[in-house]
Amino acid sequence: MTTLNEWDKKHFIHPTSSIQEQQANGPKVIFDKGEGIYLTSKDGTRYIDAMSSLWNVNIGHGRKEIAEAAKDQMEQLAYSSCFSNFSNEPAIRLAKKIADLAPPSLNAVFFTSGGSESNDSAIKIVRHYWRIQGQPERNKIVALRRGYHGVSAGATSATGIPEFWDMAGSLMQGFIHAKSPYEIGTESSIQSIREVIEAEGPEKIAAFMAEPVQGAGGVLIPPKDYYKEVRKICNEYGILYIADEVITGFGRTGKMFGVENYGVEPDVLSFAKGVTSGYFPLGGVIVSDHVHNVLKEKSEGVLFHGFTYSGHPTGAAVALRNLEILERENLVDNSSKMGGELQKGFKSIKGESTIVGDIRTLGLLGAMEFVQDPLTNKRFPAELKVAPRIIAALHERGVICRAVTYDNTDIVCFSPPLIITKTQIDDL
Ligand code: PLP
Repeated sequence: MTTLNEWDKKHFIHPTSSIQEQQANGPKVIFDKGEGIYLTSKDGTRYIDAMSSLWNVNIGHGRKEIAEAAKDQMEQLAYSSCFSNFSNEPAIRLAKKIADLAPPSLNAVFFTSGGSESNDSAIKIVRHYWRIQGQPERNKIVALRRGYHGVSAGATSATGIPEFWDMAGSLMQGFIHAKSPYEIGTESSIQSIREVIEAEGPEKIAAFMAEPVQGAGGVLIPPKDYYKEVRKICNEYGILYIADEVITGFGRTGKMFGVENYGVEPDVLSFAKGVTSGYFPLGGVIVSDHVHNVLKEKSEGVLFHGFTYSGHPTGAAVALRNLEILERENLVDNSSKMGGELQKGFKSIKGESTIVGDIRTLGLLGAMEFVQDPLTNKRFPAELKVAPRIIAALHERGVICRAVTYDNTDIVCFSPPLIITKTQIDDL
C-alpha cells in the first residue's frame, strides 16, 4: 500500500482533483473491487457508491455478463476501424438499438469515446448542418449557466461553470451563456435565452444546448414546462436544440431519456456514461431525421470528423449487453420507483433537521441543499459550508457522494446505481 501511495503521488496526475491535496495525503481511496452498489477499497473498507461513481455505473458493479460479452467480442474482433465506411456488426446493432430506444424522431447515431467528445461532435455537427445549407455564420452556441458539458475544447466552452474555464485560459469563441431556471425561474430563464439570442442575432446562432437536468451543477431540475418553452424559442428562431443526455440518458431520471420528462424532442442528443454503465468508454450523438436528411442530401465528400474509437466493436458489444440488462431487469422503472423512495428518505431527514433547504429528485438523480435558515433560504458563509463536511462524514461511514458549493450553493448530490433496492436506500 505504501508503495502504491508513493507511486500514485509520483506518477499519477488525477483528473479533476487537487494536485496539492494528493501530494499531501496520497490517493483518497484505492479501490479494489466493485459489486452491485458497493465498492471495496484495498484495505477492505466497503462503500455504498451513491454516485454510481461518476453518474455512470447504472447497472451496478461487477457484472460478469458484461465481462463475458467483452471477452467474446475481443476474441472474435477486438477492434476494427469505422472510418471510410468500414463497419462492424456490434456497432451496426448498437446504432439500431439506440435508435429504437431514443425518442421517435432521433434515428441516426455517431459514436464517440465519451461525453466530452459527444458534445464536441454535437457542436461540430450543428455547425456543419448550417454550413452545408449556406449559413456558415450560424456558428454560435447558446448554453446555460451552471451547465456541465465536459472538458474538451467545445465542451468546456459550452460548460457554464467558470472554474472549468480558468484552468488553461481563453475559451473557444462563440459560446454564450443564458441564466439557468435554477437561478431565476422558468420565465426569466426563457427571457434570458431570448435576450441572448436577440443580442447576438438569431442568424448567428447554430444551436441551444443544455442538459435536461443539470447534474454537475448540483442536480438542478427545471420545472415541467421549461423545455417546451425552450423548444418553442428554438423553433421560432430556427435554432437547433441539443440535449446533453450524458448523465440523464438510459434511465437515470426514471425515463429512458431525460427529455421524456419534459415532453420534447431535441434535434441532436448526446449520450455516454449509462450507455455502457462505465464498463467501456463509449458515447455518441443521435440526430433527428430532419438533421440526418440534410446531411444525406448536402454533406458532400468526406465528413472530416471521427475518432479512432468511433464504433469500437468491443465497446458496442459491451453497450448492447448493458442495454439488454437495463431492459431485462426493468431498471428504468426501478429508477422511477426508487427515486420515490429516495425522495421519502430526503423528506424524513428534512423533517428532523433545521438546516435542510430544497430537496429534489427525478428518478435516481437527487440533491439536498443546506441553508442556515430554511424559511429565508439564507446560505451558510463559505467557511461554514455544510455539504463538504457531510461528504467527509459520509465517507467515514462508508458512503460516497458529491458536494457542490460554487456560486455560494451548498448541495449534496446523489446518483446511485439503478439496481438499488428499498432496503439499500434506507441504509443509504
Ligand atoms: N455532459 C455531461 C452532462 C456530463 O455530466 C459529463 C461528465 O460528467 C460530460 C458531458 C462529459 O463526459 P466525459 O467525462 O465522458 O467526457
